[in-house]
Amino acid sequence: MDYDDAIKFTAGAPAEPLFPTAAMKQAYLDAMAQEGDHTFQYHTVAGPVELRERLAERAMSRMQIENVTAENVMLTAGGQQGIDLVAKALLNKGDAMVVEAPTYVGALSAFDMYEPTYFEVELQSDGLNVDQLEDTLKAHPEIKLLYTVADFHNPGGVTMSLAKRQRLVELANQYNFIILEDTPYRDLRYTGESLPSIKHFDTEGRVIFLSSFSKVLMPTLRTGWLVASTEIIDQLYKLKEAADLEVPNLTASAINQFLANNSLDEHIAKLNQEYRIRQQAMIEAIERELPDSATATKPEGGFFTWVTVDEAINTTDLLYNEATPNQHIAYVPSKNFYAYKDHTNGMRLNFTGLTPEQIADGMHRLGQLLKNAAEL
Ligand code: PMP
Repeated sequence: MDYDDAIKFTAGAPAEPLFPTAAMKQAYLDAMAQEGDHTFQYHTVAGPVELRERLAERAMSRMQIENVTAENVMLTAGGQQGIDLVAKALLNKGDAMVVEAPTYVGALSAFDMYEPTYFEVELQSDGLNVDQLEDTLKAHPEIKLLYTVADFHNPGGVTMSLAKRQRLVELANQYNFIILEDTPYRDLRYTGESLPSIKHFDTEGRVIFLSSFSKVLMPTLRTGWLVASTEIIDQLYKLKEAADLEVPNLTASAINQFLANNSLDEHIAKLNQEYRIRQQAMIEAIERELPDSATATKPEGGFFTWVTVDEAINTTDLLYNEATPNQHIAYVPSKNFYAYKDHTNGMRLNFTGLTPEQIADGMHRLGQLLKNAAEL
């Protein structure tokens, strides 16, 4: 069967026409011109200090993290490697950790490799349920690590409130665990006011702040960066050396040149201008098309909204039996985003990879699908 006209809400990728291709090409040329043949040599596990200094500056000005120097910044092979290295550093088989329910599927893939014992804490419209977290910590004081996507959650679309960020750090201090704050979407805010990072509240070096260039520049750079205490970073460097020796110098130098000669904030403002149009189209379509039996989160940024449907509906079955063959739409069913794969009546919808017309059309089809499913 040919579903060429299918509208796919499945993407997790940034929109290609918005890539800063010309400026990045120039940045690569500038990087090569600066160091000549030495560009292509082995360098160091840490990568260029100029780039880490720029990122330390950004961490302080944009993320409101205090006292960050280049020594507190580590470059990783995408945010994904940051997650993997933190898991490798902290988790032995059976160790207890907390994930949000739902959570980023790629983080689960990374954590799964170290076979932790997962404790799920529900995600609410203002971020993870900290009361439920506290109950879990009381019952399981052995918990070592908590992973959270506080800004424009993947897949949930929600953002953690300021009060919860503060309380989360207090709980980490009280119950002695590490927080991995994963923020690839943080700069992509379309409405509302930016909040300080969780790490802003960190007084004991317990929060690892992780960011990435994949969503604000290009995924192929495979470059993420994290901010942490030097103790944690030293341990992570040993693991990175064991995994892949070092940051690719050409890429890191090109990013450094890009940041030196272009305004990242201006580029992000352009992304936000375009993505805002799509976010608005999605929010309007949710209100217009979804039946009363369904609820959707209203993201202020990022890539996704999360739809919860009637409990009787299994969204995996619905996708393969009805959504794709009959309505020609696709989404990611909820099951994938839970540590125990036991949540079957939700779906993740991407809105940044589609035009407003496609969003309106696709959401109309989704509305029809859910109304038909309710009648079955
Ligand atoms: N964390 C989250 C929440 C993500 O959505 C993604 C990408 N989809 C990543 C980390 C990893 O991205 P990358 O390795 O490209 O930085």
